[in-house]
This record gives sequence, C-alpha cells and structure tokens, in this order.
Amino acid sequence: MTDSFISWNMTDSQNTAATSQNTQGLCTDAEIDKLKKYRNYWWKTGNYHPKAKWEEASVKSTNLGILSSGSMSTKSRGSGKEADASYIPVVKPQVNNGGSDGSNQPWPNLVVEVAYSETEANIKNKVENYWLATGRAHDAIVIKLKPIDSATAPSCMTAWHYCTNVRTAAGALNPTMYEFGTVDRQGNLINPQLGQNVIYIQLNCLYHEVPANFVIPPLPNPIPIDLFHARFAIEHCIV
Ligand SMILES: [Zn+2]
Repeated sequence: MTDSFISWNMTDSQNTAATSQNTQGLCTDAEIDKLKKYRNYWWKTGNYHPKAKWEEASVKSTNLGILSSGSMSTKSRGSGKEADASYIPVVKPQVNNGGSDGSNQPWPNLVVEVAYSETEANIKNKVENYWLATGRAHDAIVIKLKPIDSATAPSCMTAWHYCTNVRTAAGALNPTMYEFGTVDRQGNLINPQLGQNVIYIQLNCLYHEVPANFVIPPLPNPIPIDLFHARFAIEHCIV
C-alpha cells in the first residue's frame, strides 16, 4: 500500500483522462504558508470563523488526491448544501428532475465532509439524510477532527466510509469507522500504521449511473485511500 492514493478529478476532467498525479510530497511551502494564514485567522484575529477556516485547511492539507478537487454546490428542496469535496463523472447523464441543483444536474457519486467544530451527530445526519438519501450520492466519507483548545494539530481523528450498498439487515446505512489519529475516542494513545486504516472505494461506486457504453478508466479497483497519509498531512501541514 505504498502508493495508496490516486489523484483524479472526475468533475473537471474527462474520465478517460483520469490523472494519477502523486501528491505524496505533502504540502509545499506556499501551501503551508496559506494554512498558517488560516490558523492565524482562526486563532489570532478578531474575525473568528473556526469552522470554515479549519475545515478548508484540513481538506486542502490532506494529501489524499481524492479530497483535493474542490467542492460542488447542490440545492434540493430549498436546502442547498455544499460538500467539502465531491466527485461526479462528467459522463453521468442529467436527470429529469430532483437533481443536485433542484432540477436536472446529476448528484455526485462520492461526497467528502470534514467536521471540526461541527458535531459528529450533525455531520452524520447531514450525510445520511441529505447526501445519501435515495437517488443521490452513492458513497460518502466523513472525517471528524476532535476540537482542540491550543494551537496544535488535532490528535483524535475519526473517519467513516458510507456506501449505500452496505447496509444492516434492517436496511440502515452501515458505515465503516476508522480511528486514525494519535489518540482514540477513549483518549488512549494509538499509533496506526501505513496500510492499517484504508478506505476502499469501488469503481462501480465512483462510476455509478454512467452510460452502459462508457469505458471506466484503468484505475485500481477498489481505489485505496490510506488514512495514514491524511493523518500525517493534518499533523504536519496545519501548523
Ligand atoms: Zn458504494
């Protein structure tokens, strides 16, 4: 699992040209400077917007290519929401109604939400009842960073991977949970290793509802996303 993340942008590029840009180099100096600015803004200025700034920083600082290609606004029944990142194949056909813009835009197949100040219950509720409602996204990744009260990187990090194909016997969504920080949810020290906390995304999930004649690019299947890299990035790039 040494090369366990793939960067590609299903929104902006043709799927057939899915790139495999390796972002393992983590943050550049410029990126780190930008993140420092976020933290300054967050911690030291009078304009205190912790959630937006932290979450923007944390999404952008993960070296998971899968988290890096931007967000997409959606609007449904008057309650528009924006994910921290979302992925929709460009070939996914428009819908007649009830799309992500309230009319004919198809829903993304994968959404990523990162919560810092937002509660776990709140963000999971948003994912389960909005993004993953019937006919919308297929998969979702939720990352919860436990808030901290000093200028250090969060140590407790939890992720959940939802796939709408994975359900309990009663039919409820049944996400897989990963603890990938340095401290678990009980406060015990942990030291997850490379390859130990890996989210696998099936290509059929990413390319859900593409036309039958569309040829899915030769990406790994499933695509592994090693949370070890996400932890490293969060610890080292948010300074
Ligand atoms: Zn799925």
